[in-house]
Amino acid sequence: MSSPDFESLGIASPVLKAVQQLGYEQPSPIQAQSIPILLEGENLLGVAQTGTGKTAAFALPLLSRIDSTQKKPQILVLTPTRELAIQVAEAFQTYARNMKGFHVLPIYGGTDMRGQLRGLERGAQVIVGTPGRILDHIRRRSLKLNELNALVLDEADEMLRMGFIADVETILAETPDTCQRALFSATMPPTIRRVVKKYLGDAKEVSITAKTKTVERITQRYLMVKGHQKMDALTRILEVEEFDGMLIFVRTKSATAEVAEKLAARGFSAAALNGDLSQTLRERTVNRLKKGQVDIVVATDVAARGLDVERISHVVNYDIPYDNEAYVHRIGRTGRAGREGQAILFVAPKEHRLLRSIEQSTRQKLTIMQLPTGEQVSGQRVQQFQDRILQDIETGKLDQFRPLLEKFAEENDISMTDIAAAMTWQLQLERPLFPKIVPLDTSNQGRSEHRDRSDRNRSDRQDRPDRKNRPDRKDRPERNERSDRPRQERSRKEHPRDDDIEMVTYRMEVGKDHGVMPKDIVGAIANEAGIESQHIGRIRLENDYSTVDLPDGMPKDIFNHLKNKVRVCQQPMRLSLPSSSLQKNHPASDKPKDKKSEGAPKSPRKDTAKKEPE
Ligand code: AMP
Repeated sequence: MSSPDFESLGIASPVLKAVQQLGYEQPSPIQAQSIPILLEGENLLGVAQTGTGKTAAFALPLLSRIDSTQKKPQILVLTPTRELAIQVAEAFQTYARNMKGFHVLPIYGGTDMRGQLRGLERGAQVIVGTPGRILDHIRRRSLKLNELNALVLDEADEMLRMGFIADVETILAETPDTCQRALFSATMPPTIRRVVKKYLGDAKEVSITAKTKTVERITQRYLMVKGHQKMDALTRILEVEEFDGMLIFVRTKSATAEVAEKLAARGFSAAALNGDLSQTLRERTVNRLKKGQVDIVVATDVAARGLDVERISHVVNYDIPYDNEAYVHRIGRTGRAGREGQAILFVAPKEHRLLRSIEQSTRQKLTIMQLPTGEQVSGQRVQQFQDRILQDIETGKLDQFRPLLEKFAEENDISMTDIAAAMTWQLQLERPLFPKIVPLDTSNQGRSEHRDRSDRNRSDRQDRPDRKNRPDRKDRPERNERSDRPRQERSRKEHPRDDDIEMVTYRMEVGKDHGVMPKDIVGAIANEAGIESQHIGRIRLENDYSTVDLPDGMPKDIFNHLKNKVRVCQQPMRLSLPSSSLQKNHPASDKPKDKKSEGAPKSPRKDTAKKEPE
């Protein structure tokens, strides 16, 4: 995990200053490797996915070599989608905030050409765009590449998959031979290798090595959550998850303070730990955590290096780590001294590849986590409220108040329940017992690449020159607008809810005695059987078994997988179909009757534990 610091990498001082202002503590592994190569002017092949810090890996060194007095395009970055083009352009703008006269121009399809033409006329040193529209401008001669110093192909495998590789090659052929070239790709299919060989020659290759590491005693879960929803998601988790000490990892020094402050404002005992704090202050914070004077520490990787505090029961990766090694190191801060540990990873939709890579290198599948629902948060608060009342009764300090209330009730002819209800209402005003919780869209996007891809495809391909004369293009909402529609609303339309689907009751050999909760069952089934959580019906927990309603017609291989391979709460699930549910053509209907399952209820719909809505 030892890494050089930004100062020693040799990036230009205005760029270095921006990095410091942003609170970046140290270069990510891909940055530490790529920056010196690109500063040397060499070609680079970077095998890295989103979330590894790859944008800064090329933006910082290339910006360091730019001449801001010249307004001609010096750097061109090609991206597969316009979302990424905008994101990369914004990153350049941020890293160049201290460079006078700097301009970056995003160029992508689906928007009016005129604005882009004006931008190009005004002049920009960095152009970031999608291949179709960039090629359009080259053909119109509104974009000239003859003075280009560097070309970056970002997410090259995505460009290939979306059918842009021919356009990319045409653009590559237009760039001067002297132009420095860098290609970043999460995977290396043969076509990309061929492009690298043809246009990047003997480029230096950097990649994040995926060493296999096993992590024992740590239960690992992940939650798909968009950046702006993280704080909300975290707060809900903190409300319902039983934890002792918690370590939350973020990427920047500024984020440690920000998250810790927000948590403190929400009533949690939290402190920040980062490399800007003096050694004494850092030690003091760690000691406070050890002694239980603070329960949550929000830290960067650097600050939490080697941290060994037994009471850390949970590690939350609020920002995904750059690579697998960092992940293993982070979660290793829990499960100390032979204890059990819990690791929760927040994954933004675009980071699903990093999740997969973590799973591969740890050879462990992370269980998808359902965000605690309003009901659960409410349940927890009610429980705490009741505990407090019971404690207060036990103190024996209420003698004075009983006659007061009795008199009050009699005089006003009101019941004690009404009085208690009114007082409860007052007590909970600041922290409502029934909070209105807006549902967050944390659908399982990481696993359903399919939808992701086709969306992306639509968004960029529609803008290619050969498709220009499609009729109602203007009338179609932009991709962002479309995807901003709550996913729940979409999925409900696309997938009828359980009520419309024939459901069958299954039994599993895990119950309350094993500490199972409905969310564990939903997580295991959603993750292992690929059944979307809204199709998982009623769950009923018994002492040593549970039942769950699932859509009829489960494929045999999935059934066998759940029956033989899947564990919930460290317990084999051993899914079976109780005799009462056996149906024709069902995968299990040819199996001999499972003795144990005979006791399973016929109708689980009555008196059931409700599954969490997604
Ligand atoms: P990327 O992989 O380029 O999409 O970057 C992912 C995120 O990491 C972005 O939000 C960056 O701002 C952030 N980031 C990149 N490099 C660093 C760094 N060295 N320290 C902290 N955050 C970083």
